[in-house]
Amino acid sequence: MTPFTYERAADAAAAAKAVAERPDAAFIAGGTNLVDLMKLGVARPKHLVDISRLKLDAIAESEDGGLVIGAQVKNSALAADARVRRAYPLLSRALLAGASGQLRNAASTGGNLLQRTRCPYFTNTATPCNKRTPGSGCSALGGFNRIHAVLGASDACIATHPSDMAVAMTALDAQVRTVTGDGATREIPVSELYRDPAQGPDAETVLAHGELITAVRLPPPPPGRQVYRKVRDRASYAFALVSVAAVVDARDGQVLGGLFALGGVAHKPWRVAEGERPLGAETRPEASFGAAADAALKGARGYGANDFKIDLAKRTIRRTLADAAGLSS
Ligand SMILES: Cc1cc2nc3c(=O)[nH]c(=O)nc-3n(C[C@H](O)[C@H](O)[C@H](O)COP(=O)(O)OP(=O)(O)OC[C@H]3O[C@@H](n4cnc5c(N)ncnc54)[C@H](O)[C@@H]3O)c2cc1C
Ligand code: SF4
Repeated sequence: MTPFTYERAADAAAAAKAVAERPDAAFIAGGTNLVDLMKLGVARPKHLVDISRLKLDAIAESEDGGLVIGAQVKNSALAADARVRRAYPLLSRALLAGASGQLRNAASTGGNLLQRTRCPYFTNTATPCNKRTPGSGCSALGGFNRIHAVLGASDACIATHPSDMAVAMTALDAQVRTVTGDGATREIPVSELYRDPAQGPDAETVLAHGELITAVRLPPPPPGRQVYRKVRDRASYAFALVSVAAVVDARDGQVLGGLFALGGVAHKPWRVAEGERPLGAETRPEASFGAAADAALKGARGYGANDFKIDLAKRTIRRTLADAAGLSS
């Protein structure tokens, strides 16, 4: 591990300033992703700014009927919160589908959104990887790419984003609040937080160096029933091959509308308006679920070992939408 110095930030603005001032500095929250990457030599910060004790650990109700979740709220606390379980059950389910109980006790809301890909070549410093070493090539293109992207990928990088929580946040139209080193604040939709790999896969988000996530704002929940379904190789403690976060507004067997986001298929949580359009527009619910799945996967491309994901994603969308509509057999 590269030697590093350490400080504990007094407040959010001071934390952002401390990282912004040094190109070799990084925030550390729960450390469950960053420390692993440091041990592997993938991340090599020379200075760590500890944000884990900042007073950003509250979940507050907002005036519009939504919630504001502090960036240091632990994944386990967020999943267990009664307001989240009642109004945003798919967020609670997504969190509980991720990692293990111990990890969720340490992992933070901000850190979960910014965790790095699980591409095995990214974590193996003996192999080329454009995300780790820009310009070195992508080992997954001609290699073992079973877990990789089928949507929105680039020949520069076909990695997927591993966060379950980010998929739920995208479906719920959440916004990330940040502060920069010079004290400026802004709000970014989670759907616009991640960059396309074709823009340079080493920079994954639109955040500037030293820009600290302080909170995530959830608008009031959309109408309808919420379901999160995660398909993976093992029943627990595994990342998603495909996941679907869906909300469907159905009454008396009729679908009035709905929305969904996909995980495990792209470099970011994937939500496309074309996929949602058939919901409510088609009078036969099952037909609308099939049309939604086909539209969402339009343009999907496999890279060999991950070809199966295209059909798996379509089937998972259909099943999850039917569950959310209360129409599963
Ligand atoms: C074995 C294992 C299995 C896992 N399974 C899953 C799974 O199935 N699903 C899933 O979603 N996740 C899974 N995870 C990932 C886990 O959820 C993440 O490691 C965790 O959420 C990261 O949060 P953290 O607070 O520990 O972040 P850290 O490791 O502290 O930080 C991660 C990154 O975010 C940056 N950062 C952290 N907080 C902020 C902030 N507020 N503002 C700006 N930058 C910030 C850090 O600088 C770092 O680059 C798994 C992890 C492990 C080890
Ligand atoms: S898919 Fe991305 S992360 Fe994986 S080897 Fe290729 S460039 Fe690296």
